[in-house]
Amino acid sequence: MSVPFIIWCRLNYKDIASMKKAKFTGKIRTDPWESLARGSREVMASLWGEYLAEMLKVSKKSARFRILRQQIEEAAGYKEIFRKWNPLSPEDRGEAWRRLVETARAQAKETEATCVRCGECCESSSPVLLLQDLPLFMQEVLTPNEVYALPKGASSPEGLRQPLEEERLKIREVPGSRQCWFYQAAQQKCRIYDQRPEQCRRRQCWGEPPPEPDSEEYLNRSHIFRQIPEIWDLITAHQERCDRVQVREALERLAQGEEEAGDILFEALHFDHHLRQMLLSEWEMGAAATEMLLGRSLTDFLRDLGFKATLTREGVFRVEPRQCRA
Ligand code: SF4
Ligand code: SF4
Repeated sequence: MSVPFIIWCRLNYKDIASMKKAKFTGKIRTDPWESLARGSREVMASLWGEYLAEMLKVSKKSARFRILRQQIEEAAGYKEIFRKWNPLSPEDRGEAWRRLVETARAQAKETEATCVRCGECCESSSPVLLLQDLPLFMQEVLTPNEVYALPKGASSPEGLRQPLEEERLKIREVPGSRQCWFYQAAQQKCRIYDQRPEQCRRRQCWGEPPPEPDSEEYLNRSHIFRQIPEIWDLITAHQERCDRVQVREALERLAQGEEEAGDILFEALHFDHHLRQMLLSEWEMGAAATEMLLGRSLTDFLRDLGFKATLTREGVFRVEPRQCRA
């Protein structure tokens, strides 16, 4: 079993100089000091990458590793060391290596429990909102165009078919991905970082995941719209007539041959469809904003459950199982 490279680095840097006369075997992990003293800059670069991964305790493939490495190398003048490495004497190599290692240790200490804004978590999910995020609506950091509702009975935010027992509000994702709407991948930046939601502040990729919030900590539509009767009445009417829990039950009953369950399903589909049309045409609301008021459409909900709902030319919904691709 090979000795972790970090152990070697606890040795005195002068050990590099003592390797002056040793023959470099080319097996860089057999004796890193010998490799540093006599190997090429590529050998040094390889050892440096290994040392950093062990010391920072993060995967070399992670975006956090990439950012920390960049910061450390800038602070330690790595590019210059790499460029000048080959003709350096073993003593100078020892000195350059000491500079790299000490900068790495200092930087690692400074950033060991902080977000370095690598964006990896933003690319893989968007946050669910908590009560602390309510002021973000007052400050118009968040608007109905960036948030959608996951009403009770909707599929859970993790993308599982498991029904939610309580409502959630969630930041939209970039279409076709799980990336948060506010993340600008090209610039690796969050557009609202200083005012990011609470769940983003709680993320800590460097340690144990934070505990799940208590159920009363979650923000829902009533916190935002209850004081606006014209909107709240509409939300509650939709919730009553398009209840996703009942829609799930209706689907199960239909599957068992209870045809009368179809009435519940079709009534919900029609109400959902016409209410959205009304919001779009009469209230001139954008399609995204309707999803904050009403959640995603029931046709989308059915699609996630494996059914295709189509509005026919006669203005009637037809529901059928989606074809499975072999
Ligand atoms: S919390 Fe997210 S953005 Fe911050 S360092 Fe970790 S993965 Fe990157
Ligand atoms: S709001 Fe900002 S910090 Fe939070 S997930 Fe989205 S991009 Fe990342």
